[in-house]
Amino acid sequence: MTILFLPGKGYDCNMYLVEGSDPILVDTGTGQHFHSILKSIANLVPIEKLRTIVLTHRHYDHVGGASALMKKLGAKVFIHELDAEVVGNGDSWGTMSSMFNQSVDAIDAAPIKAGHVFHTGDHSLKVLHTPGHSIGSICLYDETTKDLISGDTVFLGGVGRWDLPSGDFEALVRSVRLLNDLEVKSIFPGHGPCCLGNGNEQIAEALSYLGES
Ligand SMILES: [Zn+2]
Ligand SMILES: [Zn+2]
Repeated sequence: MTILFLPGKGYDCNMYLVEGSDPILVDTGTGQHFHSILKSIANLVPIEKLRTIVLTHRHYDHVGGASALMKKLGAKVFIHELDAEVVGNGDSWGTMSSMFNQSVDAIDAAPIKAGHVFHTGDHSLKVLHTPGHSIGSICLYDETTKDLISGDTVFLGGVGRWDLPSGDFEALVRSVRLLNDLEVKSIFPGHGPCCLGNGNEQIAEALSYLGES
């Protein structure tokens, strides 16, 4: 499987395109760079094939562009069931859009749970529920290639904040432990650089950052 990296500009999160006959877009940024993102996507995959958008969690920097992209592409948007209501209501506090002095469009996202599998054609991405940064945060894991799209749960050398609405330190520790039990080669995080090859070392570092080793 090839995971194509669309680095976030400004406050946008990183976005990823997972290739295949049914490509998947993971996260959408704030929506403030909608046109350039759409152009980048069209340069990487046949745009008419992109029908699936997966949101790693509820925050504005990940979901702000979802409504416009969904309409433009005719795509279906998915989010964990515990973050679905907040984005469905366009809740400015729950999505943290108020922190950016922005509003967010209500997103009619289909709720998913742990264990849901997205198929791109040749490969499959399994949904791992990894609460802590938000209650409905997920990671996407390819059991064949051992690649992990980690959202804001794990970054290189750290973890996402747990002090925002629905964040939970103990849950985050449990989530990072869950990731630590997997074999992980590459990590594709919601912010900052990707890690190609030594994923488990990065997860161990994230655990020690949390005071767990
Ligand atoms: Zn983020
Ligand atoms: Zn976040």
